[in-house]
Amino acid sequence: QEMESILKQLGIRPLNPAYSTGQQWGKIQEGKKEIKVYTPINGEYIATVQTATREDYEEVIRKAQEAFKVWRKVPAPKRGEIVRQIGERLRFYKDALGKLVTFEMGKIYQEGLGEVQEMIDICDFATGLSRQLYGFTMHSERPDHRMYEQYHPLGLVGIISAFNFPVAVWSWNAMIAAVCGDVCIWKPSEKTPLTAIACQHIVSEVLKENNLPEGIFNLVIGDAEVGKWMAEDPRIPLISATGSTRMGKQVAQVVAARLGKSLLELGGNNAIIITPNANIEMAVRATVFGAVGTCGQRCTTTRRLIVHDSVYEEVKERLIEIYERLPIGNPLDPSVLVGPLIDKQAVDTFVKALESVQKEGGKLIYGGEVLKGEAYGNGHYVKPAIVEAENHFATVQEETFAPILYLIRYKGEVEEAIEIQNSVKQGLSSAIFTQNLREAELFLSAAGSDCGIANVNIGTSGAEIGGAFGGEKETGGGRESGSDAWKFYMRRQTNTINYGTALPLAQGIKFDV
Ligand code: NAD
Repeated sequence: QEMESILKQLGIRPLNPAYSTGQQWGKIQEGKKEIKVYTPINGEYIATVQTATREDYEEVIRKAQEAFKVWRKVPAPKRGEIVRQIGERLRFYKDALGKLVTFEMGKIYQEGLGEVQEMIDICDFATGLSRQLYGFTMHSERPDHRMYEQYHPLGLVGIISAFNFPVAVWSWNAMIAAVCGDVCIWKPSEKTPLTAIACQHIVSEVLKENNLPEGIFNLVIGDAEVGKWMAEDPRIPLISATGSTRMGKQVAQVVAARLGKSLLELGGNNAIIITPNANIEMAVRATVFGAVGTCGQRCTTTRRLIVHDSVYEEVKERLIEIYERLPIGNPLDPSVLVGPLIDKQAVDTFVKALESVQKEGGKLIYGGEVLKGEAYGNGHYVKPAIVEAENHFATVQEETFAPILYLIRYKGEVEEAIEIQNSVKQGLSSAIFTQNLREAELFLSAAGSDCGIANVNIGTSGAEIGGAFGGEKETGGGRESGSDAWKFYMRRQTNTINYGTALPLAQGIKFDV
């Protein structure tokens, strides 16, 4: 019942909302594919959503192209004003949208609210940014010449997002792209279409009130097939894709084949190093939040803990003590910290990873059970696991999207720990816990962490929107959100203006005709 009222508040018709492009309501049309959405909380059915057909998709592209002609001429600070209004509207809907995130994705309500707060924050950031899309000016080597660079909108930006941050990742892209003058086409994860529909309603309200075309923000619901249409489509100059490395490799190749731009935010295999100079209490707390928060389903989840031999036993004991007290259960219960995994497949992956790491010689020292019983309904709840392992194990090298923490021991200097931390294919987030300046600075130096995010005395997850977010190696190399990530959403143009009457050439070349 609560779910129905939330859907109503967010403008989603309960039970059978047929939805493809943002406008079409009613019964699922003949011959169209549908997605049935169930909550991971107890497996209950929420709604059926219709996926976009190729015709729907073409219609969306047409609307987006039309809208771009209008939007690119709206002055950037005025575009910022629209994004400001979206931020205000998100404040209004924060509780309902946060709850829908919990219903649909299963993260605890506090994290659902946190995700919406992140959307609000990026709206504020983008509003300010809309007055700061600066280019450089340069001194020309020729007399009476002026040189400068400017940034223009790219056009259509395709956003393919993952289930685990069903709304925030879209906003990181869409709000920045919007102030840059781009129009967006969003394909959310097929596991979380409802929260996307809710966001679409929120932005549509604001566009309507401002007499702007609805095609500035677009939504296409569907699975990987719809994502492929976007990746192949030369009408979309930039594809920003968030998800697994497997998906990123496919998208990267398809987009590169047409010389489009791709911004990839892919899997992580993040580690925390705990040195003998660490504040152990801080380190352990950060590890637990990083390892079990969102039930281990964050791209920045702490998956490996590299601990110095001299503090290893102490850290291990403290971790087990805390894991024993972890409240696991319904993510709407405010006392719960660990909710369910997204679906049955995720539970199977968790179980299989634990089996395979043990076959390789890993020792399961805590958790790993699939939880059954009334409190867990038909949900997908597991007890977060701690495994003593070695970094080179094939299972440890992979990102298993579930709460498994691998404890890895190092015996020598911090250089050894850094070497271990860098010895994986992924390069998203990393952290060191130490009170020693030399260790901390080495970790941040060119010879230190090879990740896109490197933290000192803070865990691997929970990044702020102000920084550019993303990672190296198989994480894909993309950067989005804060800092100057906006530049990727624009095309750069260098302009030289001659206000004299002669036509001098650069490099002193003489070419008299
Ligand atoms: P996924 O790769 O299964 O799906 C992500 C999205 O890609 C979905 O919308 C899916 O439909 C689409 N997709 C899949 N194959 C495609 C293809 N060939 N062409 C076009 N689109 C395709 O990922 P998931 O299970 O939803 O999310 C979990 C993964 O996402 C983890 O690996 C996690 O680390 C990663 N992730 C990364 C970041 C980051 O910022 N680096 C953030 C969140 C999640």
